[in-house]
Amino acid sequence: MTQPTVLSARGIYKSYHKDKIEVPVLRGVDVDMTAGLVTALVGRSGSGKSTLMHLLATLDRPDAGEVHFCGERIDNATRSRRDAYRNHDIGIIFQFYHLLPELSALENVLAPTMISRSVWNYFTHRKEVRLRAEAMLDRVGLLHRAKHKPCEMSGGEMQRTAIARALMTDPKLLLADEPTGNLDTETGQEILKLLAQLNQDDNLTIVMITHDDSIAAGADICHRMQDGMLESAANFNFERPLVAA
Ligand code: ADP
Ligand code: MG
Repeated sequence: MTQPTVLSARGIYKSYHKDKIEVPVLRGVDVDMTAGLVTALVGRSGSGKSTLMHLLATLDRPDAGEVHFCGERIDNATRSRRDAYRNHDIGIIFQFYHLLPELSALENVLAPTMISRSVWNYFTHRKEVRLRAEAMLDRVGLLHRAKHKPCEMSGGEMQRTAIARALMTDPKLLLADEPTGNLDTETGQEILKLLAQLNQDDNLTIVMITHDDSIAAGADICHRMQDGMLESAANFNFERPLVAA
């Protein structure tokens, strides 16, 4: 049985404008993310990977083209629908973690849920939300750091916290933009192993954005960013180092 497509992009164009000069970045991107798979989007620095991720996450709008999530067109949806999409349907992790420095690990995991609910809704469910946040920290092996602030954590621990935060709403898809880009090789491998475990155990669909061919080679499917378009790189050597040992 063929797996459904969770996220797809069709004919995506995006340019930036600097001093009245148009800088085309994406020039007709087509891509499908299949449920339960790790899809790598690989390309050199500046090739437009983060630009594409922002469009897939509805953090920005394409000049032309469409983004569909589980069959629903999302790029031109209402603001509240796009907020709900980002807050509930997908999870996002970044190279620099984007944690709030004054909050503990647990509070960082809780924060988006607190913000996305009404005060009354959060108040009546706060115990359940807290238990879920603790369970997510435990899932990423970090419950013992629940009270630590980001400045008291290593890069790997901060990324684990960001992953726990992204998992709070049980997302259908995780967008990861260079999630190991700021980590040493060994710590990066541990994060990749954790993502592989989430993919295998929870069937989490993952979009892995990377400039690193060796990381992309561990994905189920790989697309290469080339001249503003994505080319299927099916001839990759799929030894799957991403697979959890
Ligand atoms: P990647 O993530 O693959 O390194 P980006 O998507 O960040 O690439 O950037 C692609 C190109 O678009 C780069 O040339 C970059 O300088 C340019 N760019 C990115 N964001 C902006 C912006 N907000 N304004 C102008 N140019 C931008
Ligand atoms: Mg980038």
